[in-house]
Amino acid sequence: MRIVTNILARLGRRIRIAASPCTAPAGPPSRKLRRTRHRTPKPPAGHVAPAAPVRPALALQPPSIVQIEREVIEHFRPQMCQALQHKLDELAASQTARLRPTCCNRPVPYHDRTRVPTLTRFGWVKILVSRYRCSRCRREYRPLLGFLEVEPGKVSGSLARLLGLLGVVVPYALAAELTLLFFGIHVNAMTVWRAVQRLGEPAARHMEGLAAYHEDSRSQAPPTPTPPDVVMLGVDGCALGMQVRKTRRQRKTSDEVLPPLPPVEEGRFREVKTAVLLLPAERIEPSPGRHSVVRRVLVTCLGDADAIFSRAWAQLRELGWLGTNTVVVIVGDGAEWIWNRAGIFKNHCEILDFWHAMEYAWKYARLQFGESSRCAHHFTHRIAKDLKAGKVYDVIARLKTLRPVSDEAREALKAVIKYYTDNASRMQYDEYLRLGYGIGSGAVESAHKQVVHARLRQAGMRWSEQGARRLLALRLLLLNGHWAMVDRLRMAPIAA
Ligand SMILES: [Zn+2]
Repeated sequence: MRIVTNILARLGRRIRIAASPCTAPAGPPSRKLRRTRHRTPKPPAGHVAPAAPVRPALALQPPSIVQIEREVIEHFRPQMCQALQHKLDELAASQTARLRPTCCNRPVPYHDRTRVPTLTRFGWVKILVSRYRCSRCRREYRPLLGFLEVEPGKVSGSLARLLGLLGVVVPYALAAELTLLFFGIHVNAMTVWRAVQRLGEPAARHMEGLAAYHEDSRSQAPPTPTPPDVVMLGVDGCALGMQVRKTRRQRKTSDEVLPPLPPVEEGRFREVKTAVLLLPAERIEPSPGRHSVVRRVLVTCLGDADAIFSRAWAQLRELGWLGTNTVVVIVGDGAEWIWNRAGIFKNHCEILDFWHAMEYAWKYARLQFGESSRCAHHFTHRIAKDLKAGKVYDVIARLKTLRPVSDEAREALKAVIKYYTDNASRMQYDEYLRLGYGIGSGAVESAHKQVVHARLRQAGMRWSEQGARRLLALRLLLLNGHWAMVDRLRMAPIAA
């Protein structure tokens, strides 16, 4: 009996020693417990359960330097606003006599003075504006507002230009959020929209004006001491979704949610065209086979083929890149509208984009040999090699001897042969490579994506004719590195 008790006691101790989430009973364990204990596998020696994940903690406050910076801004903002107010008052006093308008063939009599609010970079100010009223026709004038490009109750000055910049880069609602983060000023998406319209209108007019000027035979190009021997011009286009309505929808209250617009019907698209101008001499090869350009100049428009060529022409003249012997190398995807207009340049060279040529070969190869098959790869590789060697007629002759395996493949083969035959004179790739011209339209495709897709072709976006025209004009200034020009544009008053 004592032996049995000893065994039980030893077993009990063992059970107590074993690592277990349950607390072992103090006395000898019951038969039932012993049975269950024996069934539970022993955890391996040194086993530790993984620690429960800790919720990531954030600092309670921003770093002191950030707090101090913000305090300083908030401290000086009212003082800056006051200083601006003071200077504007001085300006109003000095300009009043100078800006007196004339109407009905005589100076307009002074009527009264009012304070006109406007939102600036430092907050709201009130400009003291003299009002003149013609006693004959009763028309009113506030010339100081026009002089300062101020719209009563709206954003003006450098803030309007900053809002314009943000609206050119990101959608208007996001631009409004960024305005608060960057400048501590609350605005809504419509305010940003308005700034873009007011700046975009003169920017678009300036570009259209330059195109019209250079189209005229009496216009003069800026003098160019050394025009380049070769200029490359790439053209690309895409469709832009246009608004179905002529006018914007108005919310009755600020929190009213407008119902979604109906799906866009066929024909609600406009073509946007982009041209890229660059000098082959400025092309660099940062790594073998990868080409990049030091400088490229973009031209874009919402309009027909004539418009984009006339703008490219104007831009080339402005840059001084169009000498009497300059060869304009045009790279295109085979669209007829491009080649039809190449003739406006006295010396030009037409190149079919190499990758478009290869796409036709790939389409046939996939249908003939199967998707991503070795044969398809070999077939297209050989075509690419021969085309680069300038053997386009050999390639066409070889294609004509092939036997397609299906009707689809036959159609694709026909298309390749026709495309290569139509464009054979634009496929002398060995010559172009020897002369250092680019044979791909990669530069224009990436430029077009930057100008148009990155801002105007986001999900669900639709544009009015004017809205797209103005935004494109401003994006061009930014992407061509000419944003400083907006300071020299007179902001237009916009009725909306
Ligand atoms: Zn009058």
